[in-house]
Amino acid sequence: MDNKPRLAVSACLLGEKVCHNGDSAEFRALTNEWNGHFDLVGICPEVDIGMGTPRPATRLADDGESIRLVNPQNGNDFTSQMLEYAQLQANALVDSGICGFVFKKDSPSCGLEHVKVYRNGHDQAVRNGMGMFAKIFTTLYPHIPVIEESRLTDPQQAEHYFARVHFFSLWYHEGKKGWTDKAIKEFHNVNNLFLLSRSPDAKRKLGRLIIQGFDNGEHPETVALAYMTEAQQSLNVLTKAGPIAHAMERVLGNLSSNLSKSERQEMLDVIHDFRQGLLPRSVPLALLQNHLRRYHIDTAIHQRFLSPIPSSLGLMARV
Ligand code: SF4
Repeated sequence: MDNKPRLAVSACLLGEKVCHNGDSAEFRALTNEWNGHFDLVGICPEVDIGMGTPRPATRLADDGESIRLVNPQNGNDFTSQMLEYAQLQANALVDSGICGFVFKKDSPSCGLEHVKVYRNGHDQAVRNGMGMFAKIFTTLYPHIPVIEESRLTDPQQAEHYFARVHFFSLWYHEGKKGWTDKAIKEFHNVNNLFLLSRSPDAKRKLGRLIIQGFDNGEHPETVALAYMTEAQQSLNVLTKAGPIAHAMERVLGNLSSNLSKSERQEMLDVIHDFRQGLLPRSVPLALLQNHLRRYHIDTAIHQRFLSPIPSSLGLMARV
């Protein structure tokens, strides 16, 4: 975790006064608490296409054939400008090495889900849309982890999202050396317990995806991209205590021959209490970490599971 992952963020969330009313929508957890852990890059699609600030609020309008981005007061249509910009900006951001994108909820440009869509001539909206910029970005780059800021107010969601970002960041930096069959297998192996704890199905699916890719003679870069796309889609669902406790038991299994009977029982009790929601995750993780260090059997596989995000983010004790 030496490299700070680069995170694209809707610029208004970073405190930039780019909202249509000339204000910002600063998300302080990101700007004050977590900012030291990420290289934050603010993007405002509406300002970037020249709409200016302040400006009339835009909305998504369904004309029966397509969804348009319009100014409802004068009918100005920004759809083609936004589509062209979104493709160019998405490519530029990915080329610059972003490892995730935090989008502003509800925005007709940036919202990821449940954005209001108005049928032409109607004042009532259906909340089933996606911001136009966010839609293009996620369609072009489905392997990059994305989230709306409102979800990050929940520590479980924040921890899981940042774990996905760090997982992506490791993959990105590994890929800069050029993917080989061996490097892909090693990456999957090192993340074995991490994946087991977050999405047991994904761990199996990804193993099969790698083998099939190699059998079909696909280029390692193609296999690596398919791997991260599948991984991030599976990791989009929040993990539960059960798979995490199961991964803890696997680590305990690696320690068994070193621990006394009472030490082992103590670990089982603590894992059980975590599974029941009586203890935070940090308690069994710290005990396991301590035992692994004491017996010098700490490996990269253990570390990927035990320390998925920097502890200084302040989230591990809250999940
Ligand atoms: S939601 Fe997106 S388009 Fe709207 S002000 Fe924020 S960054 Fe700009």
